[in-house]
Amino acid sequence: MKFDSPIFVTRPIIPNPSSYYKRLDSIFESQWLSNMGNQHQELENRLTKHLDVPYLSLFNNGTIALITAIQALRLQGEVITTPFTFAATTHALAWNNITPVFCDIKRDDFTIDETKIESLITPKTSAILGVHVFGHPCNTEAIQKIADKYGLRIIYDAAHSFGDSIEGKGIGNFGDVSMFSFHPTKLFHTAEGGALTYKDPNLYERIYLLKNFGIKNENEVVMPGINGKMNELSAAMGIEVLNIIDHEIESRRNLEAVYDSLFNGISPIKVVSPRKQGINPHYYMLYIDPSKSMTNRDSLVERLKADNIYCRKYFSPLTSEFPCYCQQSTAKAVPIAHEISNNLVAIPFYGELKIDDAHYIANRIINLVTNG
Ligand SMILES: *Cc1c(COP(=O)(O)O)cnc(C)c1O
Repeated sequence: MKFDSPIFVTRPIIPNPSSYYKRLDSIFESQWLSNMGNQHQELENRLTKHLDVPYLSLFNNGTIALITAIQALRLQGEVITTPFTFAATTHALAWNNITPVFCDIKRDDFTIDETKIESLITPKTSAILGVHVFGHPCNTEAIQKIADKYGLRIIYDAAHSFGDSIEGKGIGNFGDVSMFSFHPTKLFHTAEGGALTYKDPNLYERIYLLKNFGIKNENEVVMPGINGKMNELSAAMGIEVLNIIDHEIESRRNLEAVYDSLFNGISPIKVVSPRKQGINPHYYMLYIDPSKSMTNRDSLVERLKADNIYCRKYFSPLTSEFPCYCQQSTAKAVPIAHEISNNLVAIPFYGELKIDDAHYIANRIINLVTNG
């Protein structure tokens, strides 16, 4: 076997140890480990600039951030969303007693199909929750038009879109609130963490209160908040990761070029990661065409596993197929999401992956889809 140890689908950016230890020293000296300390302040400022947004609030993870965003906008009833996402997107609605209404996706970019949203609107609809998938942005202009027409709010799950922009504008500026995840599987991370970005200055205090138990001051607790605070060790990690993120992006671009050249002209394989100006390299996604491939996506993933190459079926299953959501009346009316979910795979993609190994992985995949 070529690989003695497993090759995973991704690997986190690891900061320079001595710079991180220096920050740890200052954290230890301050004896301030959480509750919006110096590292938190510094990271919040840096990310506000980096993401080119008016306001940003840090969180202990993306899921709590999303649950809080729904609270901040006081959503209720039904929210129109996509089943082609990570579990947390739909769960965040359920944790707010909101019914997810599933809308199908588009075949070309896997984002919510804006032409199918209007027919799902009822008197109970309070918002649209879109997901920018693998860096493919939603059609933010069309979705805004629908929201304006019906008086709905918009939240974007931007967990896959760190640092991306649409026509030069930071992706966190669209809709009412955007959520970013800083989990180690994402391009940018804080070990665990997340953030909300938004334009309305009135949301800053409300979100701050919501993520800190609703505590206004020593004597007043003004709402049922949660503990959504990012700690100082995570914030320090984020600052050091941000310092070297450009290097990671550059390495991924080189890797992308190698994969692109190898998969070019292989008819059972379609490379489906975004290639637009302003979109970072988040994932390397392949669509395995079931009518042309000699092996289907699922057995491809199993065969590669036997070679110590761990790919990811992404997103599979759909959230609408989970036992907790499959009884929803809209859960079965998402045929395109089903088809895509059965045939997509994320292959190993991270800056430290050796070019040599990328050649091996790509050739192994090509061999399996063309010869079985
Ligand atoms: C990672 C991810 C989340 C959850 O973020 P956490 O920080 O792990 O809680 C939500 N939605 C999508 C699309 C994700 O990829």
